[in-house]
Amino acid sequence: MTCWSCGKPPGAGAFCEACGKVQPAAPGSDHFAALGLERRFAIEAAEIERRYRNVQRRLHPDRFVTKSVPERRLSLQRATAVNDAYRTLKDPLKRAEYMLALEGMPADGEASPDLLAEILELREELDAAKSAGDAARIGELRAHVRRQQDDTMSAIARAFEGSAPAQAAALVHRLRFIARFLEDASGTVEARVQCPRS
Ligand SMILES: [Zn+2]
Repeated sequence: MTCWSCGKPPGAGAFCEACGKVQPAAPGSDHFAALGLERRFAIEAAEIERRYRNVQRRLHPDRFVTKSVPERRLSLQRATAVNDAYRTLKDPLKRAEYMLALEGMPADGEASPDLLAEILELREELDAAKSAGDAARIGELRAHVRRQQDDTMSAIARAFEGSAPAQAAALVHRLRFIARFLEDASGTVEARVQCPRS
């Protein structure tokens, strides 16, 4: 590949390494490449944030106001790709699902009976704690499930690094249930329903 402006090899980033002009995305480029990241599951949230802010700042429309039409068009395409990449990669669940899709592995299989039983039990405990207005118990459940989330994410990273996408898919399923549970548990304690006094 050569730079459209100077004809030199532009490098892998959004801007030509020789002349600094914005470049079209390479064919087959993915969300990781859009942010200049290696394709792996275990990435620090701060690293994704830092890459995103950096490239987003360089692609800001204000910087292209006086540039040529093709450069404005390319910068817009690049900025859109960078936003999509950021939205997908910053969320560990979406990042894992995206990596499975890149591997051609469907992420929507059946949950195992063990997983369903485990989640059901946690849900029942959560519902009981919520209706009792027991904020401490909700906090405990949330902390317990957060630890499960951390463990699952470590296991997903190991599965991807060991090139075991089927194993990763099963773990992603688990992560999805965990995410949903934490979402439900994140609301404030519901007010107890008062029976109207007659
Ligand atoms: Zn160039």
